[in-house]
Amino acid sequence: MSGRKIIIAGGGVIGLSIAEQLLRRGITPIVLDRGVFAKEASWAGAGFLDLRSVARVGGALFELCKKSYDLFPEWTARLKKDSGVDPEYLNSGSYDTAFTEGEESAVRQMETNLKTFGLTGQWLSASKALTLEPYLSPQVRSVFSFEHTSQVNPPPLSRSLLKVLQNAKADLREFEQVDDFLLKGKQFLGVRTNKGVIDAEGIVIATGAWSASLAEKLGVRLVSKPYRGQVVMFRGQPKELKHIIFNTASSGITYLVPRLDGHIYAGSTLEDVGFDKSTTPEGLEKLKTGAVRLVPSLSQHLIEETWAGLRPGSIDGWPYLGAVPGLEGVWMATGHYTHGISLSAVTGQVMAQLINGERPSVDLTPFAINRTPHPASGL
Ligand SMILES: Cc1cc2nc3c(=O)[nH]c(=O)nc-3n(C[C@H](O)[C@H](O)[C@H](O)COP(=O)(O)OP(=O)(O)OC[C@H]3O[C@@H](n4cnc5c(N)ncnc54)[C@H](O)[C@@H]3O)c2cc1C
Repeated sequence: MSGRKIIIAGGGVIGLSIAEQLLRRGITPIVLDRGVFAKEASWAGAGFLDLRSVARVGGALFELCKKSYDLFPEWTARLKKDSGVDPEYLNSGSYDTAFTEGEESAVRQMETNLKTFGLTGQWLSASKALTLEPYLSPQVRSVFSFEHTSQVNPPPLSRSLLKVLQNAKADLREFEQVDDFLLKGKQFLGVRTNKGVIDAEGIVIATGAWSASLAEKLGVRLVSKPYRGQVVMFRGQPKELKHIIFNTASSGITYLVPRLDGHIYAGSTLEDVGFDKSTTPEGLEKLKTGAVRLVPSLSQHLIEETWAGLRPGSIDGWPYLGAVPGLEGVWMATGHYTHGISLSAVTGQVMAQLINGERPSVDLTPFAINRTPHPASGL
């Protein structure tokens, strides 16, 4: 199977993870991105590796996230060793905070969902939580501490993948956009890009929020749309916060992710506004208010940067993973929505297995491109 010419359209964390896993199978891919690699959703993301939110959805989506979660420690250690770039994997654990009775009962529901998968956490009183996380608001009522939440830092994760691919002399092309496909009947023969024609034996479409328009060129109607997420980055001190801190209030979800260098990432809005990547005064204000409610001292911290990114949605919030029905040599890995960083480890693995003719380590039927939407929606 090695020596095959496989194109990956889209150099976000999904395309790069698949490329890295293909390399390990002796296939040196051609990765094309219409812009700079990993500068879209994969740069914007917070990078927490989350099982809490998918426990609500359950089923095969939870199992996929769990499989990916378990792959991260070894995968990121290998990437760090092979590339010299540290993806900053950290099992920091998370604190779900409740300020009101209503917020506490929502967290208790999440706890019940997690228990069905054998995962338990620990309730902390406000005073106990404040001794462990001293900058937390004294207004907090209770905290659910859950150790099975980890994080990576998305930009260095992608940089480490790129370095491994560069070291292996993969064909990496920025500013080369896939515009159309060359097909003979059902057989994929290559792509037409803004720079010319590339012949190949196969292609993986990993173009994130922009996948539907490409799929249309293959006659495939893919339900996929962008969901904007705005972000505020505070400058803090290393170890100022030790856990990822979540809060689900009636006004929306706020989370704080402490980076190793002290930056504190405050996310995020979830907006259905098309391909508009701008930030808005209201969106940023909401995030700042939510962040200061959790950690009041953040009101004194410098805001270093703000930005927005587009999460790739799908028909039901589950990713599309697998072969495009009716075609030979065309695969798709997109629609990862709010879980693309969390799912990057397993997506790379299963897609490379599929392309290499191996049996994927996860049954991909629930993620088929032409599936009936799952009643347990992840949206
Ligand atoms: C604010 C925010 C916070 C998030 N937080 C988390 C989190 O904490 N944990 C988590 O698991 N997930 C998180 N996510 C979701 C996660 O970031 C995405 O699901 C993931 O990055 C999707 O990766 P991707 O490679 O599919 O898409 P992208 O990173 O968007 O990459 C797609 C690439 O395809 C390229 N492209 C598009 N069209 C073409 C074309 N025709 N030809 C060639 N190239 C093309 C684009 O230029 C782009 O580089 C977050 C997302 C956002 C926006």
